[in-house]
Amino acid sequence: MFGLEPGENTIGKINAALRRLGFKFVFDTNFSADLTILEEATEFLDRLKSGQNLPIFTSCCPAWVKYLETLHPDMLHHLSTCKSPMSMMSSTLIDLMPKYHNVSRENLTIVAIMPCTAKKYEAKREQLYTNGRPDTDIVLTTKELGAMIKGAGIDFKNIEPEQADTPFGEYSGAGTIFGASGGVAEAAVRTAYEYVTGEELKDVDIKEMRGTSNRSKTVELDIKGTKVVVRVVSTMVEAEKALKEIKNGTANFQMLEVMACPGGCINGGGQPNSHNDSSIKGKRACGLYKEDAELPVRKSHMNPSIQKLYSQDFEHPGSHKAHELLHTSYRNKYNGSYRDI
Ligand code: SF4
Repeated sequence: MFGLEPGENTIGKINAALRRLGFKFVFDTNFSADLTILEEATEFLDRLKSGQNLPIFTSCCPAWVKYLETLHPDMLHHLSTCKSPMSMMSSTLIDLMPKYHNVSRENLTIVAIMPCTAKKYEAKREQLYTNGRPDTDIVLTTKELGAMIKGAGIDFKNIEPEQADTPFGEYSGAGTIFGASGGVAEAAVRTAYEYVTGEELKDVDIKEMRGTSNRSKTVELDIKGTKVVVRVVSTMVEAEKALKEIKNGTANFQMLEVMACPGGCINGGGQPNSHNDSSIKGKRACGLYKEDAELPVRKSHMNPSIQKLYSQDFEHPGSHKAHELLHTSYRNKYNGSYRDI
């Protein structure tokens, strides 16, 4: 939209442009992606221990969540109860903006910048309302934000990059890679490995989970003698195949990551158009993995702001408070008209 190369990291420019548009605080959803990983890795390990509700399904793509609720409600117990990074961020801001920035809920309008219109649907889910008001007040797609920046006459290409605000703006490389298919699972494994073994994971790059052209990948991992198999899919066609395997008893995986868009959110329907050039999504994914490789912290549980958040406010991953704020529920929306495909 602004003549920059696909995959170029523009986060600092976006922070700056949002402030020019009038936003008082700018935080980063990569921060709450880190938060999601701590909750989801904890939930995954609990399920591995108990052997229940496996394989665990990732829950950060609302199109996938709605698909399951509508067409496969018998599989809802597999879904992680973790809210998406967008909704975790909103709950966290509602709870903690009074403490950290002296802003009460009445004076707070939470606007999320997201890759798709499915996120607008997510914000309207009844489970994500508090006292009759959606936790996320407004969702803008990246394309809509681009149009606003153009409309305001901001010289985006040359604007000086700025940092996000604290304490909800700091993120790890694991939070960054959520945007590419395979990124959520890779980020979760980086944290789960260290939770299980108590040892440092030296090589954090799980390259078998990456790539935007292959819409289904199965990766076998050895976590100090425990075999963990992860299936990573994008598109509902591939998700449907994975569900069939579970239903007919041939599935061999314990974690299923699903993104509705081919290649993940980098290719979301609200993103500047990449559909007439399939190389664009690959370049965007490379941009994310490049930033991940360059960041000083690459594991969600090592993000100092996340560590502080738990020690001061949320106790520990999976705590009562964390469950109240960061987890959600699902509803059977099957209307009886589904035909097996
Ligand atoms: S995969 Fe697509 S539909 Fe799902 S959250 Fe990402 S952009 Fe939205």
